Amino acid sequence: MRDRHTGEPPRAAPPPEAGSLRESVADYVALLASSGLWVVGDPAASREDGAREAPSAGARALRADEPARPSIAAATVAAAFPATPGSAPDLFTPSLLDGTPSTLAEIREQLGECTRCKLSRGRTHIVFGEGNPKAEILFIGEGPGEEEDRQARPFVGRAGQLLTKIIRDGMKLRREDVYIANIVKCRPPGNREPERDEVAACGPFLMQQIRAIGPRVIVTLGRPSTSTLLGRAVQITRVRGVWHDFHGIPLMPTYHPAFVLRQYTEKTRREVWEDMKQVLQRVGRAI
Ligand code: SF4
Repeated sequence: MRDRHTGEPPRAAPPPEAGSLRESVADYVALLASSGLWVVGDPAASREDGAREAPSAGARALRADEPARPSIAAATVAAAFPATPGSAPDLFTPSLLDGTPSTLAEIREQLGECTRCKLSRGRTHIVFGEGNPKAEILFIGEGPGEEEDRQARPFVGRAGQLLTKIIRDGMKLRREDVYIANIVKCRPPGNREPERDEVAACGPFLMQQIRAIGPRVIVTLGRPSTSTLLGRAVQITRVRGVWHDFHGIPLMPTYHPAFVLRQYTEKTRREVWEDMKQVLQRVGRAI
């Protein structure tokens, strides 16, 4: 069975393609069309293009010294990701990327006591996210766990305590300095991965949060959140530690702290720290 956070063991995969942007976009659009939206947790839609530096339409690897670019214009996004009538909502909907961002309070109000997807049936609390509303660094996991559901706060269980330790002791920041959110805001039953329809329902609110916060860097924690934001199935072991691009925002994938807890080895810890050092460098903070 694959590890929830890494997708290991790796599947047999074709070698990385060096296709043109046109081919990448076409590939991505075909993937969206066939999947309805995303590739999270969908082995049939999974495409392991493998190479850590391999770019895709929605996200591409960046050189470490490459500055962040402005957001992709709405027209470009619309051309690359055309809306299909009747299709599930798309996180890349231009109206969610451009225009005046709502505040986090407004987004929370819009969300209300949400019942837009089936996860509402089993939750205790909506876990909206927390932290600095103008954080430079935005951490994104896949969904709340049991403790998060109970406390209505993200990353407060064992894995969350490790994330806090990484932020505080490793990065020398306070938890309140960063923002922490998830792909879905209600706990998936049995701590399973969020399903496609759930991501489709909840994802636009995350996009609005990203716009409202305007982070300089996004850190995705684990395979599901990384796959969702990159728009393709990835193995976290192959994409972590390499800069990608999420509509102009540098994106650094790293391991989910729950995986680090399970694989508490020198190598795993060192790799996470290497990833966080790159993040600190990117936002101009001392290491
Ligand atoms: S996961 Fe998101 S879309 Fe689904 S019910 Fe919760 S808040 Fe609403």
